[in-house]
Amino acid sequence: MTQPKLTLADWQARAADLDIRGQAFVDGRYVDAASSETFACINPANGQTLAAIAACDAADADAAVASARRVFEAGHWSRMAPRARKAVMIRFGDLLEEHLEELALLETLDMGKPIGDSTTIDVPGAARCMRHYGEAIDKIYDEIAPTPDNALGMITREPVGVVAAIVPWNFPMLMAAWKIGPALAAGNSVILKPSEKAPLSAIRIAALAVEAGMPEGVLNVLPGYGHTVGKALALHMDVDCIAFTGSTAVGKQIMQYAGQSNLKRSWLECGGKTPNVVFADAPDLDAAAEAAAFAIFFNQGEMCTAGSRLLVEESIKDEFVEKVVAAGERMPAGDPLDPATRMGAIVDDVQLDRVMGYIEAGKQGGARVRLGGERVFTESGGYFVAPTIFDNVSNDMKIAQEEIFGPVLSTISFRDEEEAVRIANDTPYGLAAAVWTANMSRGHRMARRLRAGTLWVNCFDEGDLTVPFGGFKQSGNGRDKSLHALDKYTELKTTWIDLSR
Ligand code: NAD
Repeated sequence: MTQPKLTLADWQARAADLDIRGQAFVDGRYVDAASSETFACINPANGQTLAAIAACDAADADAAVASARRVFEAGHWSRMAPRARKAVMIRFGDLLEEHLEELALLETLDMGKPIGDSTTIDVPGAARCMRHYGEAIDKIYDEIAPTPDNALGMITREPVGVVAAIVPWNFPMLMAAWKIGPALAAGNSVILKPSEKAPLSAIRIAALAVEAGMPEGVLNVLPGYGHTVGKALALHMDVDCIAFTGSTAVGKQIMQYAGQSNLKRSWLECGGKTPNVVFADAPDLDAAAEAAAFAIFFNQGEMCTAGSRLLVEESIKDEFVEKVVAAGERMPAGDPLDPATRMGAIVDDVQLDRVMGYIEAGKQGGARVRLGGERVFTESGGYFVAPTIFDNVSNDMKIAQEEIFGPVLSTISFRDEEEAVRIANDTPYGLAAAVWTANMSRGHRMARRLRAGTLWVNCFDEGDLTVPFGGFKQSGNGRDKSLHALDKYTELKTTWIDLSR
């Protein structure tokens, strides 16, 4: 467990001592890419190289899929008694927690998030997820159908087979955990393809799964680029299911690959443009303002659910924006290894350019910069952007319509409930929405009318593993978390037995 009071110097010392592995994990062993190619993994806080990462491609996908299939057919895991799988999953979760410091460091060095977040959110969240699905899996019963007396209709669930999990870089471990937790607990073999921008924690946890007792070949990890190994997995004829989290644009490609190959099940958790709607009668405007700043600046705004559109009732708009600006000023970008830092580095130079491009588009489009709007901390050699707040945004502007995936907030005012609903729903996305009001009838009305997979009333980004998470519209399909996630990784089978003879 982490010491409660590690300092920046402590974390820097631990980072210097870290043994970072960059290989793929196939059939229970760390291996180089078949091509021997590697690419550099960069620390976004200083631009320095952390490790050489195996650049897997189609040949590695073939090897991993063959291993996963072999172990699936052998039944060592897929047909293991659920209570035995449970024990391994719980041990896996415990091992993640025992390696909290190491894994949190990998996460922070790799993608730039504050160490205070990776130690309290990412690693514990991933550990809880493994235990949650482990604990659930021996408590789920199948069904007997209400058939006539001369027949027995059994409705059973069985694992899909070989699952490829393709995940993004913003919560590398947690997004991976939300896929591999339920997929493994259900008895599947899994190939995890982390983002090329943040592969370190995925590579490390593969060995911990084996240490926990998972048979070799059940969990394989293939680092590499999306257009090479990711595409190869999505087109593979022997992958039964793709569980994808990432952008809507790539999600659309994944569906096409499934159609071009074996019609594999394709579950997509994609982008968002969350409206955070604040009415003048919100119970506590200071708390709402603090939450509005957190909603967009937490994780550097690199959040699928980021509250990137702040809709404020006209009568309180100016007063409320002042409060959000003040809250944003309390979240300056800083060294991710400093425990006091609340906003870290942008994941890489490509994402930095993208974010700065949107800030420029906001300025050109006539929106008013109320906070930030520039790169900061450039002397570090890293990629930092100041918390940025735009006012006077209209919902048809580029910065209000497109997912920026950075610390950039668009403030839009509305006159009444009807207009708030219209603006909030005027987006191709439907991942989440939030409403702040003391009027519970209005809260319920809004919750019904806003088109999103998750609705928060008088809070933001709340929830735990017991509730499903996923999107409406172009935010995707299927749901992570909760027992509903198991639907993605199991096939429903009907067995009809004639009892008359
Ligand atoms: P991305 O779509 O660029 O990449 C996601 C993953 O897909 C990566 O592993 C990447 O290598 C892989 N990939 C890229 N091209 C591919 C291809 N042609 N074939 C197969 N795989 C391919 O997304 P990103 O930049 O890593 O992550 C940011 C996006 O993720 C944002 O849009 C964000 O909203 C979304 N996201 C969604 C959720 C959710 O639960 N809905 C959670 C986190 C992030």
